[in-house]
Amino acid sequence: MEVDVLYVGAGPANLASAYHLMKQVEARNERAAARGQQPIEAPTILVIEKAAEVGDHQLSGAVINPRAIAELIPDFQEQGFPTEHICTHDYFYAFTRSGTIKFPRFANPPMFKKKGYHVASLSNVVKWMAARCEEIGVEIYPGFAAKEILTEGRRVLGIRTGDMGVAADGSHKPTFQPGMDIFAKVTVLGEGVRGNLSNKLIDDFDLHGLNPQTFETGIKEIWRVKPEKHRPGRVIHGSLFPDFFGQINGMWLYDMKDNLVSYGFVTPLDSEDPNNDPHRAAQEFKKTPFMRDLLEGAELVRYGAKTIPTGALYAQPKLYVDGALLVGDSASMCNIMKLAGVHLAMKSGMLAAETIVDALEADDFSTNTLGGYAERYRSSWAYEEHLQGRNFTGSNEIHPLFGMFVNIPLMVLTGGRGLIDPIRTHPGHTRMKKLRELPPGKRHSEPFEPDGVLTFSKEHLVGFSGTAHEADQPSHLVVADRDLCATSCAIEYGNPCEKFCPAAVYEMVDDKDNPGHKKLFIHH
Ligand SMILES: Cc1cc2nc3c(=O)[nH]c(=O)nc-3n(C[C@H](O)[C@H](O)[C@H](O)COP(=O)(O)OP(=O)(O)OC[C@H]3O[C@@H](n4cnc5c(N)ncnc54)[C@H](O)[C@@H]3O)c2cc1C
Repeated sequence: MEVDVLYVGAGPANLASAYHLMKQVEARNERAAARGQQPIEAPTILVIEKAAEVGDHQLSGAVINPRAIAELIPDFQEQGFPTEHICTHDYFYAFTRSGTIKFPRFANPPMFKKKGYHVASLSNVVKWMAARCEEIGVEIYPGFAAKEILTEGRRVLGIRTGDMGVAADGSHKPTFQPGMDIFAKVTVLGEGVRGNLSNKLIDDFDLHGLNPQTFETGIKEIWRVKPEKHRPGRVIHGSLFPDFFGQINGMWLYDMKDNLVSYGFVTPLDSEDPNNDPHRAAQEFKKTPFMRDLLEGAELVRYGAKTIPTGALYAQPKLYVDGALLVGDSASMCNIMKLAGVHLAMKSGMLAAETIVDALEADDFSTNTLGGYAERYRSSWAYEEHLQGRNFTGSNEIHPLFGMFVNIPLMVLTGGRGLIDPIRTHPGHTRMKKLRELPPGKRHSEPFEPDGVLTFSKEHLVGFSGTAHEADQPSHLVVADRDLCATSCAIEYGNPCEKFCPAAVYEMVDDKDNPGHKKLFIHH
């Protein structure tokens, strides 16, 4: 199959890009007609999305800076953008296990000022954006996962989708359909965080940024609270102390429609502690008096977890190669200091679209023209915003105390520079210590005992995540050397995979073929 522009992933970045591209071509052709010049032919634009429906892979609930959507569709509210509430009151709280210190609103750190931001379900936002795209002629194919990048030398030609109807043992089921090759003049990778194709492109074409990408795991829960506890317009950010000084953490909470509140908790994945367990941290946080009071008599509606790229500006890869562009989280556009990536994803997509119009006009899809995307980005407000937060992750990697009390306040005063610029960071996994390197009291973690009312096991919560997989399909998780799981990984690190995965996907089980030994089992 051949198209002019292929978008991989139907997230906010690519949908904003596809919409903007169509509109920009229209605008350029109107200007050309007024000057009596030749129009550009309307491009064929295809968006493929691996989820069965657009929006199914979005972790619902977001506080969105409206700057980008207002540039993209100035009358977005009149056109029915699915805003649930607009933030009227933003707060920062310091939580302890026994109480809450509520900062006065004037002392709310600048990164948590969210007044005027839109609270919405991200899933509904992308569904709405997809509908706007389809109205103007963009084709969207959900249910198609790009599996491989097609290249010729150092030029991207398109992608190959995965085979469908393959059984877990690799045999073909009656529903088998081979993957297809989609060729495009430009392929835009907006796969979100840790995109398979994006990572491969970054590695193969050596597009790495200054720092390696780092990650946090965000856990989200949606609860239906008693009506008297529902406060539309409120957005709270906070951290749990003294835990923060050992390893940073962050929480947020905001009210959605129908007495729903969205609660989230983030834990870094570059922890020194192999027992680091983001699910457990999110459950433990709900035992604070504030959360106990809020969730008293409430009902859990939804659970989800997803990684967030935290490297921001200094982990941003080169954004273009011959025939392809990287946008959104795949290009490390998320602003972790503000816990916000939707507006930056959209803006990066829009800048990519403007560059693609130049490429269509020049009929040149090489870096000569596509390099204009990086130039546009560097003169945009999105880059300016990233500059302000550029040393946030590095400050916290040096030490959360240094970050919170020294460098982040200094960064606010110096436009992002702080004491040292740039701060170099390390790949998250390289920071993990062996159990014997931890203080004796920290080597072992007691099993987590949920109460079934406020706190729940991973297995229970996965039932609230809305994920459904065909049982008989090949595992998408590949463990390079499973022998290590039962040997050095178990002995030196205590199998961190059993802890860090919030969906309890990895489990060390008794090895029936090798009595007295364990082996790794991966749950679907
Ligand atoms: C817990 C959590 C809370 C957050 N809260 C906020 C918030 O309140 N406000 C805010 O602004 N930001 C928030 N963010 C960040 C924000 O969600 C992201 O920055 C934003 O969604 C990035 O958009 P994107 O289009 O780049 O990627 P995504 O939104 O991740 O979309 C990528 C899409 O591509 C699809 N895809 C991936 N690979 C393939 C493939 N190979 N083939 C086909 N399809 C593919 C995926 O299924 C997905 O639909 C949060 C993130 C997390 C994890």
